[in-house]
Amino acid sequence: MKVYVSGLYCGGNPQPGVGIVRSLRQAFPNATLVGVEYSNRVSGIHWDDLDDLWIQRPWDELDLESYGERVRQALDEGGLWISGSDLEAMWLADLFPNGHRNLLAPPLAALKRITKPTVEAASGLPVKIPPYISTEHSDWDLHAFCREHNWRVWLKGPYYDAARTPTWDSFAAARNALTKVWSTERLFLQSHVSGYEESVMLAAYKGELLGAVSMRKREITPEGKTWAGDISEVPEEFMAPLRRMVKELAWTGGGELEMVRDASNQLWLLEMNPRFPAWVHGATIAGHNLPALLVQGATGAMPKPSVAHGQEFTRVVLEVPVRGDYPLPPLPEPFAGAIGHSMKHPSGLTSLAKKLHKANPDLLEVVVEEDGPDGLPAIPDSFVADIDSYDFARVQTPQFLFMDQTASGLFKRAADRAHRLSTNEVQVVSGYSIKTNPDERLIKLALDNGFYAECISLLEVQKALEVGFRPDQVILNGPAKWWPEGLMPKERMHAFFCDSIADLERTLTAMEAGEMSSRHVGIRIRTPNVVSRFGIPLDSPGTFRKLVEAVKRLPADTAFGVHFHMASDRIGVSQWWHLFESMLKWCRSIEKLTGRTIEVLDMGGGWFPDDWHSDDESKFAKAVGTVKAMLPGVRQIVSEPGKAMAQPSMALAMRILEIQEHEDDSIEAVVDASIAELPMYFFYPHRMLRKCSETGELQPIGRGKTNLMGRLCMEHDIVAANVQLPEGSKAGDLLIFCDAGGYDRSMSYVFGRG
Ligand SMILES: *Cc1c(COP(=O)(O)O)cnc(C)c1O
Repeated sequence: MKVYVSGLYCGGNPQPGVGIVRSLRQAFPNATLVGVEYSNRVSGIHWDDLDDLWIQRPWDELDLESYGERVRQALDEGGLWISGSDLEAMWLADLFPNGHRNLLAPPLAALKRITKPTVEAASGLPVKIPPYISTEHSDWDLHAFCREHNWRVWLKGPYYDAARTPTWDSFAAARNALTKVWSTERLFLQSHVSGYEESVMLAAYKGELLGAVSMRKREITPEGKTWAGDISEVPEEFMAPLRRMVKELAWTGGGELEMVRDASNQLWLLEMNPRFPAWVHGATIAGHNLPALLVQGATGAMPKPSVAHGQEFTRVVLEVPVRGDYPLPPLPEPFAGAIGHSMKHPSGLTSLAKKLHKANPDLLEVVVEEDGPDGLPAIPDSFVADIDSYDFARVQTPQFLFMDQTASGLFKRAADRAHRLSTNEVQVVSGYSIKTNPDERLIKLALDNGFYAECISLLEVQKALEVGFRPDQVILNGPAKWWPEGLMPKERMHAFFCDSIADLERTLTAMEAGEMSSRHVGIRIRTPNVVSRFGIPLDSPGTFRKLVEAVKRLPADTAFGVHFHMASDRIGVSQWWHLFESMLKWCRSIEKLTGRTIEVLDMGGGWFPDDWHSDDESKFAKAVGTVKAMLPGVRQIVSEPGKAMAQPSMALAMRILEIQEHEDDSIEAVVDASIAELPMYFFYPHRMLRKCSETGELQPIGRGKTNLMGRLCMEHDIVAANVQLPEGSKAGDLLIFCDAGGYDRSMSYVFGRG
C-alpha cells in the first residue's frame, strides 16, 4: 500500500498532512507513506513517519499539465492520494472531474456545491448560514451591511483568508489586499457569530459516510486555530442528514464542517473544507481514526484497531531532526504588508489560485448572483434634481454644492416623523447639531421645521440666535459649554446637559448666582461597556454618590434630564438599540437614588442618514413606548441628528485635471479637489457621479482600477481609490462627490491655495 499525502505545512495555521500521516502509520504500520509538498520550506517534510518525499517546484513554477500526468500515473499504478490542501483538492477535482478510484478527494460537482458562503449542499443539516453580502455590491450597500451587523463582520476570500473589519478604512485596506492576492473582486462580507467554535470531521468513499466525529475547540491560537479540543460522537440528528448529504454529493475523501454554536444553541455553518482538518490526529487519539477508515473504505485493507487515549487532545511544539537530503534553505526575504496566512505559506498557493482562476474562471466562485449587482449605488432623485439646478459653466471647482431640495426634504421628513411619534404625554423633538455643519441654510431649515438648536459652544449659540432661534429653543451640550467666556445667554434656555460632576457643580453655582438659567438641567451619562471620553461614568460608587448629591441640589423649578450620545454608525444599529435600553435602566436607578424625575430624555445623534431616515418607523415608535413605560415622568424625548441631516445636503464638485493610463491597465486621474475638502473620505463611502460632458447625464461611478489623486502635493492625498470612470472620461470633466455635507464640509480646511 502506497499513500501520497499532501499539505504538510506546520506553521501557526497548519495543514493536516502530518496528522494524516501519523494516523495512517498507526493503522497501517507497513504502508509506504509519501509526503507531497511544493516547497522545501515546509517543516512537515521532516516528519519521521514519512517513507518518501515527492517535492515539487512551487505552484507558480510548476507546469500543471505535466505534473497532472505524473499524478495520474501514480494513481494508475495503485497509489492512493489524500490531499491536505483545499486548492490542491480543487485542482485535482478539475483534473479528474469524475474522480479516480485511488484519488481520495471529492469530485468537482461536489466542490461546486460547498462553495462559500452559501454551502448549498448543507441545506439539510441543522445549521444556519450567517448573513453575508457579496462585495460586488456598491460601497454604499456594503457600508449599510456593516452598520446593520454592528461592524462585527469578516471580509472573506474565495478560498482562504478572512479579516475582521471593524471600521470602513480597515475594510477598504483588507479588500485591496485580498483582491490582489486572490486576483478577484468577488469577496464577501459575513456577519460575525459569537459563540463557541466546533467542527464535524468526516470521511467518505463514493458517497458512503465511513465515519464522522465532533470536535469543540478548547484552546485557540491567536489566528483562531485549534490548539486543544475535545472529541465526541456526532449526534444522530446531525448524522442522519450528514449521511444524506454525503450520498447526494457522492463525496470521497475527508471533509470538515466548521461551525459556531451561539448562546441559544443554534449552529452556524462558516464553511465546509474538502479535506481533513489539521486536528485530524486529535480524533485518532480519541479512538476515531478517520484517515484509516477512508483507506479501508477505498481498498478493503484492515487497519489495526484504534485505541482511545481519552477524549481531549492538545498540541505541543516538537523539534525534529532535519532530513540530510533536504537541508534547511536560507531565511526567506521578509514579506512586507501581508495579511492572512495564505501569503505566508511558502508553496505559492496564491499563484495556484491565480492559475486555477485563469483556466476556469468560475471554478468555485463565491456568491454568483443571477442578475448580480452592478456595483453602482442608487442615486436619489432629489440629488439629480439638485445637481441639475447648477449651471456648472459658472462653478469654480472644487466647490461645495448645497442640495436645496434634498436638504428641505430631509428636515421636513424628520419633522413629520417627530410629529407622528408625539403624543399628549410625550413630545418627540429633534435638535439640529450645529457643529456638524454650521451652514446658515441648514440652521434655518432646522428652525423652520420645529427643531431645537443643539450647540456645543457659546459661539454656536450666538450663531443660532442670529439665524432666528430664541434662547428657549437652545440645547447646550458638551465639555466646553462656557466657552468663550462672557457669552452665556441671560435668558432661560431649553436644556443644559452637564458633562462631568465638576461641570454640574459649576452649573449649580452659576444658577444660584443668577448667571444662567435653563428650563431643564441634566447630565450626560457615560455609556457603560462602550468606551467614551464624555459624560459622567456610572460604574464607580464614589462618582455615583457625588452625582446623586449634586442632582439633589437642583432647584425645584428646574426640571431634570438625562442625555447620552453614542454614534450608531460606529457601533452598529442593533447594538445602539441595545445600548438605548440599558441606558433607560440606568435612568431608572438615577431617578430612584436622586428622588428626581427625569422629564427630558436626550438620546444624542451619530446616526448615518439612511438609518435615521429609514422608512421603517417601528423601532422609533417602540422606543417611545419603552420610554413611557420605564420613565413615566418623561415629557420630551430629544434626538440630536447632525450628519443625518447635513451629510446628504451638500456635494463636492471637482474637475479632472489630467488622466494618466499605466501599462498594467491602472489609471491615475488628478482632480482639482483634495482630502482638504473631503477629510471624511476614509471613514465612509461617498456616492460619486460624473457629469457627461456631451449629454450632461449624471453617471454613477463604480469600482475599477482608477485612483483619483488630489491636487495636493502630498502622498496620502488620494480622494478615491479603485473607482471606474465612465467610458470617454477626459480632462476637464466634472465629477461630483455626494454625501459631503457633514463633517467633510465642516472640517474641510484651506490648503495649497497660496
Ligand atoms: C456631534 C454631536 C451630535 C451630532 O452628531 P452627528 O454624528 O453629526 O449626528 C449630537 N449631539 C452631540 C452632543 C454632539 O456632540
